[in-house]
Amino acid sequence: MPIYRAPVEDFRFLFHEVLELEKHRDLPGFADLSPDLVDDILANAGKFCEEVLQPLNQSGDEEGCRFENGVVSTPKGFKEAYKSYCEAGWGGLGAPESVGGAGMPPILTMAVSEMGMSANQSLAMYPMLTAGAYGALLATGADWMKQHIAPKMVSGEWAGTMCLTEPGSGTDLRLMKTRAVEQPDGTYKMNGTKIFISGGDQDLTDNIVHMVIAKIPDGNGQIHDDLATVNFFMVPKFIVHEDGADGPRNGVNTGGIEHKMGIKGQSTCVLNFDDAIAWRLGPKPLPPKPDEKRSASAGMAGMFGMMNAARLGVGIQGIGLGEVAYQNGYAYAHERRVGRALTGPQEPDKPADLEIVHPDVKRMLLQARSFVEGARALSAWTTLNLSISQSARPEAATAGLLEDLMTPVIKAFCTDMGFEAANLGMQCYGGHGYIRDNGVEQFVRDARINQTYEGANGVQAMDLVGRKLGRKGGAAPMALFGLLTGWISEQEKDEAMKPFVAGVKRGTEALQAATMWLAANGPKNPNDAGAGATDYLRLMGITMLALMWGKMAKVSLGKTDKFHKDKLMCARYWMERMVPECPMLLERIQAGSAAIMELD
Ligand SMILES: Cc1cc2nc3c(=O)[nH]c(=O)nc-3n(C[C@H](O)[C@H](O)[C@H](O)COP(=O)(O)OP(=O)(O)OC[C@H]3O[C@@H](n4cnc5c(N)ncnc54)[C@H](O)[C@@H]3O)c2cc1C
Repeated sequence: MPIYRAPVEDFRFLFHEVLELEKHRDLPGFADLSPDLVDDILANAGKFCEEVLQPLNQSGDEEGCRFENGVVSTPKGFKEAYKSYCEAGWGGLGAPESVGGAGMPPILTMAVSEMGMSANQSLAMYPMLTAGAYGALLATGADWMKQHIAPKMVSGEWAGTMCLTEPGSGTDLRLMKTRAVEQPDGTYKMNGTKIFISGGDQDLTDNIVHMVIAKIPDGNGQIHDDLATVNFFMVPKFIVHEDGADGPRNGVNTGGIEHKMGIKGQSTCVLNFDDAIAWRLGPKPLPPKPDEKRSASAGMAGMFGMMNAARLGVGIQGIGLGEVAYQNGYAYAHERRVGRALTGPQEPDKPADLEIVHPDVKRMLLQARSFVEGARALSAWTTLNLSISQSARPEAATAGLLEDLMTPVIKAFCTDMGFEAANLGMQCYGGHGYIRDNGVEQFVRDARINQTYEGANGVQAMDLVGRKLGRKGGAAPMALFGLLTGWISEQEKDEAMKPFVAGVKRGTEALQAATMWLAANGPKNPNDAGAGATDYLRLMGITMLALMWGKMAKVSLGKTDKFHKDKLMCARYWMERMVPECPMLLERIQAGSAAIMELD
């Protein structure tokens, strides 16, 4: 059986020593966040994930979801575990108190979410999707929805989904076919098919509130491949009347569930909308003016908000899977006897030394660990920036730029590296990892989808390079370089920080050169930007984790306990073994697109 120990100590280190949450009590949701409360939440969530969610992970994978007679069933034990999750209040941790939530800031919901993903990604995804859906409803919904629907989602009584993908339209939302036609009473009638909908149907909740995008046809009843016609809707599985009264079953039916590589306890559904009653979210779209070129409709802002939160959430899934795979690889390498240490037997009285004596095994584990802990720091720092951006502080705008810039980096870098870490954890088991009984090949299968959904990682890279770098005259990269160079010049004064500063400097220099190269060449040849985008995102990810490790090293220097000494070793690993990739990535970016695009 795989093991999982919630990394509560690491979160405490980040929150108290590195990010010093005590100094941020002015931020929204931080006022009551005493160190004791933070520790309590972390400890209780960790215990819940270890004791309730994790024991169902392997059995949930083996059993999977079932689809019989149009109804989806989740694996044995999921219903009870989900109920306990909701009763403990975890589902509403980040929701406002006005709708029954605990009003905790995203830095804490991120921590709880990561532990859930490590313990059981399939199960933890149901409440994660619901939180995204009620967040969008609170941002864009009518008052009656906030009053009668959102509280039931916050309590977990009802769940939520996000329905974007269709058979012919995944990345390219312009091509979607689902249509919503306005009715005299102001509601819409929706028809179309959505596929791959996570939690699209399940037996955990009495109702499911689908957040759906669909096109509004023109006056002639035609739909167009135009994002401006795509709008955002709420479509409950069972109708809810505006006074909160329960209504009949809506025209949303499950066509089937996908049989897939991983997250088998998570139901991934085909949903058919057959004259389903839908409520438009956000302002009513205005008819286009002649020759007007419009981008997304105003109501889509709510959907983008939901997607941004989901992107951070998926990045955190990558970290969670990396953590649990690392823990299992580490445990196995301390049990398995294989070969002798290169420098001579460590335990001559035993037939062989422990696997952990081999440098390549330690390399695999350090690669996974330095990623996981660095990435955890990056996502905590980013969610802190999110809270700062919502405050009245003078640095709010800069924090918002940084959070926005990091969103595709966290989504793509953390899921690429999370998959790599899951694979390394499995590799520590040798052939025994490939065998299902040990449960570690599940981490690899589960981690794989994180690279694809919520916008494939290549698309995230294009979002970073094609949109986020140039927006507002390059304000976001300028803010980032101001932060990096400011940190370097401050820390250079500290002799003990030299090895860590050198790593951050090396990454920053490569990142600056790559940014300038893309700014100069991308507009002339967009394929140059497209060909270098994935390398650029990785370069930014490695550099940002170098900064995080620099920050963690700073507070660990001079401390003699094992925890802080280990932090310094991991920081050193990242600077010596990962940062050297930065000049290589720069060289690849500067090679442009010729070798890629000229082959017919
Ligand atoms: C298990 C699972 C759960 C899912 N859950 C949901 C859900 O809850 N809700 C929902 O709406 N959807 C969901 N999805 C759908 C998922 O988000 C899409 O599969 C994904 O966005 C990619 O769309 P696609 O499959 O149509 O691939 P396509 O859009 O056809 O793209 C194929 C590949 O082409 C590349 N590509 C495409 N466009 C670009 C570009 N502009 N630049 C660079 N490369 C590009 C990418 O590598 C991409 O992987 C889920 C999918 C799975 C498998």
